[in-house]
Amino acid sequence: MNAGWRVATLMLAVYCGLAGGGWAGRVQADPAVKNRTYFEQRGEMIWEVATDQKVIALTFDDGPDPAETGQILDVLRKFNAKCTFFAIGKRLAEYPDIARRVAQEGHELANHTYNHVYFKPPISKKQVAEELVLTENEIVKITGRHSRLFRPPGGMYDETLVEISNTLGLKPVLWSWHQDTRDWNRPGVWNISQKVIRNARSGDIVLFHDHVYGESQTREALTIILPELAKQGYRFVTVSELIGLSETQQAKNRRNLAF
Ligand SMILES: [Zn+2]
Repeated sequence: MNAGWRVATLMLAVYCGLAGGGWAGRVQADPAVKNRTYFEQRGEMIWEVATDQKVIALTFDDGPDPAETGQILDVLRKFNAKCTFFAIGKRLAEYPDIARRVAQEGHELANHTYNHVYFKPPISKKQVAEELVLTENEIVKITGRHSRLFRPPGGMYDETLVEISNTLGLKPVLWSWHQDTRDWNRPGVWNISQKVIRNARSGDIVLFHDHVYGESQTREALTIILPELAKQGYRFVTVSELIGLSETQQAKNRRNLAF
């Protein structure tokens, strides 16, 4: 199917399928149970995965950046790490060559909205859908296909956001709560690297940024993190690959229960 046509169809599905019911109304409907456990159990959102394999997904938000993204890609290549980049649509439009390099080197390019807007009331459903679809258009131009994953800026989500992104074929992905490096705040190379190394567990999703204000400490932290975790036997995979390994594990559990 023609990519542009598919996007238009998806937009229509969002407008029609989700018409009615205000954003705030949904939030207030049943706030107590619409939390991580609720969405995780329904398989509608991901924070991390359960797997018996020694794999970790490193993720980079807010790029592409003309300087930082390339420097990070150089380090990742050295350690054969495949990662996921949650890119901002308008930056993809501005720096398509850098995004192309991300994809060509085997990393996953995923959706982080077009303008890095925070999804909280009174943002409309139409605006949410536009932010996601416009970014998908840029990703398709670069990779030739849609992404499957979306990370809401600031980690802000609710039932409506989950519903819209799922309708568009995008699974919202946050990060392991013990793996928020806060590298955007530049806490120091040592603090970033030790947080990831000390907390590392199989199935983690680690939050980094490949575009920060001021001089980034992320690249240097990676030069400490990657060799150390590799030495411990970890493999660095994309979030989609991590999800695939989780499903394999679930299938294995089901088989074990059957016998
Ligand atoms: Zn962000």
